[in-house]
Amino acid sequence: MSAVETAPATAVRLRITEIFASLQGESTRVGLPTVFVRLTGCPLRCSWCDTAYAFSGGETRTLDNLLAEVAGHGLRHVCVTGGEPLAQKGCLALLAALCDAGHDVSLETSGALDIAGVDPRVSRIMDLKAPGSGELARNRLENLALLNARDELKFVLADAADYAWAKQQIAEYRLAECCTVLLSPVAGALDPAELAGWIVRDRLPVRFQLQLHKILWNDARGR
Ligand code: SF4
Repeated sequence: MSAVETAPATAVRLRITEIFASLQGESTRVGLPTVFVRLTGCPLRCSWCDTAYAFSGGETRTLDNLLAEVAGHGLRHVCVTGGEPLAQKGCLALLAALCDAGHDVSLETSGALDIAGVDPRVSRIMDLKAPGSGELARNRLENLALLNARDELKFVLADAADYAWAKQQIAEYRLAECCTVLLSPVAGALDPAELAGWIVRDRLPVRFQLQLHKILWNDARGR
């Protein structure tokens, strides 16, 4: 057991950009009322990132304080997101504490950092960065072997070249046999109907998704 996991809750501090209740906009949990805990900071710079406001700033909070605010929203589902949540060492303790408090917890992570230490009760929604993101070299491929049926693997695709790359990865690593695979278009870059057509044409064993929160509110922040 790591020092992070054994540290008392009062000793764990995290940098937080925002906490809010909304509908889950992505993954197989789409549409579920959810509390979002957005951690500050990310070591990546994806070309199409829509949460750059979480790169810096935020407020330092204790774990106890965070848990109390999450509990106050009165929702079972909690999504820990960013930025890149795993860039903060206190994230593992936060995830475990949310599970201990009885929440159904998901983690949105870039795929660039080690996911091995994440509490097994958490559903890991992990990106595999396509070439169009500009962060292809950051993919930590060792993570793929750690995914299981509880987890989901997400590709965000900017163009036909990204789609061809994703299709190759899905076949090479037999990804659809490990977990749900999600494909979504970069908003404003790839026509969603075109991507949907490619998936059907190629009979890909994946789930197409659009970002519900953008359809509803055209905004990634504070919804
Ligand atoms: S990993 Fe996520 S938060 Fe970080 S730059 Fe990429 S899209 Fe933005």
